[in-house]
Amino acid sequence: MPNDVASALEALDGELATRTEFHGGFPYNLLYEHQNLSRFLRYSLNNLGDPYVDGSYTIGTKKFEREVVAYFANLYKLRDPWGYVTACGTEGNYYGLWLGTRLFPDAPIVTSRDSHYSVGKAATISKSRVLYVESDSRGEIDYSDLRRVVYSVQGPLVINLNIGTTVTGAVDRVDRVCDFLEKTGRRFHLHCDGALGGLLEPYLNERSCLDFSQYPIGSLSVSGHKFIGAAMPCGVVIARRNTVLQIEQTVEYIGSVDTTIMGSRCGLSVLFIWQAIRQRNFADEARTCRENAKSLCNMLAPLGWEPLLNELSTTVVFGKPDDAFCRRWQLSTTNDRAHVVVMQNHTRPWLARFVEELGARRERRADATIERRRIERIAAGGC
Ligand SMILES: *Cc1c(COP(=O)(O)O)cnc(C)c1O
Repeated sequence: MPNDVASALEALDGELATRTEFHGGFPYNLLYEHQNLSRFLRYSLNNLGDPYVDGSYTIGTKKFEREVVAYFANLYKLRDPWGYVTACGTEGNYYGLWLGTRLFPDAPIVTSRDSHYSVGKAATISKSRVLYVESDSRGEIDYSDLRRVVYSVQGPLVINLNIGTTVTGAVDRVDRVCDFLEKTGRRFHLHCDGALGGLLEPYLNERSCLDFSQYPIGSLSVSGHKFIGAAMPCGVVIARRNTVLQIEQTVEYIGSVDTTIMGSRCGLSVLFIWQAIRQRNFADEARTCRENAKSLCNMLAPLGWEPLLNELSTTVVFGKPDDAFCRRWQLSTTNDRAHVVVMQNHTRPWLARFVEELGARRERRADATIERRRIERIAAGGC
C-alpha cells in the first residue's frame, strides 16, 4: 500500500477497474451510468425511520423513496403498498420474514434447501424454527416434499419462496404453492425472495406469478445492486399496507420499535434506484441478458462443460474449472460447479473471450469429469 492517500486511492482505482472487467460470478450488473449523482455526496442523506413519515431530520430522499416503492408496487400489482429501500436483499428478507413471524408468532419458516443463507439467519434473529424442504437437481423446491413438511406441523406457516435461487437461478412456482396452501385451509404469510429474479421473472414470464392481485403474496424483496446496479448495496422490500398496520399497532402497544429494521437508512442508494427506473428499459435488458445466457450455454455445451440454464434465469451453471481460472473471473463455486450470472455488462465479446479462455482449460475439465465418473461408478459398485 503506497504511503500517501492520493497514491493509495489511485492504485485502488486501477485495481477495481480491472476486477470489474473480469467479473462473472455474482449477480451484479456492473454497467450503469450514475456519475451525475456524485453531487449528492455533499449531503448527509439519511432517510431516518419510516419512509412515509417525513420526521424532523429532513436531509434525505423520502419523497423519491416513496416513488421507488410505488414503482415496484405497480410492477407486482400490489394495490395498497407499504415498503422501503433497504440496505440489501438480505434486509428485505429479514423484513418480510419478520413480518410473517410477527403475524404468526409460533409459526415455523418453511423454505427450500436451496434458499439463500439470509433466510436461515432471519430465522435465527426472529428465534423461529426453520423447516427445510428438499429441492430438485435444478434447485427448484420439491412440491411433494413441501406437502410432507406442511402436514408435519400444525397451525400457521411462514413460507419463503425463491424467485431465482443463488446457485442455479431456479424459480419456485408461486402459483402452484399458493394453490396447494389455499387448499389446506391453513393461515400463512408468503414471502418471495426475488433478490435477482424479482427483476427477471416479470419480464421473462409471459404470465408472471409475482402478482399480489392474483396470489396471496405477503411480502417481496429484491436487491438494488443486482439487476439494477448501484455503487453501493441496496434493495427494496414491499408488503401489504394493511398487514403492516396490523403489526404497527402491536408494536406501538409494546413500545417504541420502528417500522423499518434499520434506524438510519441510506438516502443516496434511493437515487440510484429511482434514476434507473425512470431512465431504463428493464424489459429489454432482461431479454438481452436471457438471450446472452442462452448463447453462453450453447457455447459451453460442445466443450464438455455440461451447462445448465433454468427457465426465467440468466445463471449458467457448469463444471468447476481450476482455481486460478475461478479466481481470475471471480466465479462463485459450490462443490463441483461454478456459474456465470449473465448481466448487462456481459456483452457478446465478453462472453466470447470468457469461453475462449475456458476452452483452453478443456483438457483439465475432461480429466476431472472422467475421474469423478470413475469414482462414482466405483462407489455405486460398478467397474
Ligand atoms: C443475493 C441474494 C440474496 C441476498 O441479497 P443481498 O442483496 O446480497 O443481501 C438473497 N437471496 C437470494 C436468492 C440471493 O441471490
